[in-house]
Amino acid sequence: MIGLIFGPPGSGKGTQAAHVEREFKLSHLSTGDILRAEVARGTEIGKEAERIMRAGDLVPDDLIIRIVQGILRDPDVSSEVLLDGFPRTIEQAKALDQMLAQEGHKVDFVIAFKVPEDVLIERLLHRAEVEGRADDTREAITERMHEYKNLTAKVLDHYRKQGVKVHEIDGLGTVEEVFERIRQVVNREK
Ligand code: ADP
Repeated sequence: MIGLIFGPPGSGKGTQAAHVEREFKLSHLSTGDILRAEVARGTEIGKEAERIMRAGDLVPDDLIIRIVQGILRDPDVSSEVLLDGFPRTIEQAKALDQMLAQEGHKVDFVIAFKVPEDVLIERLLHRAEVEGRADDTREAITERMHEYKNLTAKVLDHYRKQGVKVHEIDGLGTVEEVFERIRQVVNREK
């Protein structure tokens, strides 16, 4: 089973993805986490990505596609995957579809969080104080919202056109309340 989880920055995507991973035994693959680990380790990829990420922009498609390809080709990675933060552009979506098709797989379900923008900004500025993530500045937050609205929304349409159901989840409420909404949706897909 291959699931995609989408949500604007601050929508609680990472938290919910961790719950989905545990409950449905999917491997959670977050491109944001992978890139932050590369930056922390100071690798070549990390050096290339650091400045771009800090500004809230997307790293180049070919870079992120190569990373995901490397992981999905790894025989140790199961075919039960929850992708978080990828694909974010149409180019990335097409590359993913191709990678999956080679293995006879396809995207099975898509979850997309909906949260009002003022709530998102409030949550992210709060997280900035608590966690100090480099891209949680007001400027970078605005840029990330902008990227999400402009590019990622098109990815949702790409999957809708293919007949993949996009489940829009209300991201307001407690972590448990939101997860319950997801659980119902994923159970129906199984
Ligand atoms: P958020 O959803 O809070 O913006 P993520 O942790 O998913 O955060 O991603 C953080 C940053 O990592 C993005 O702003 C971007 O710079 C980079 N990134 C992550 N995934 C991708 C991707 N698929 N394509 C391009 N850049 C990405």
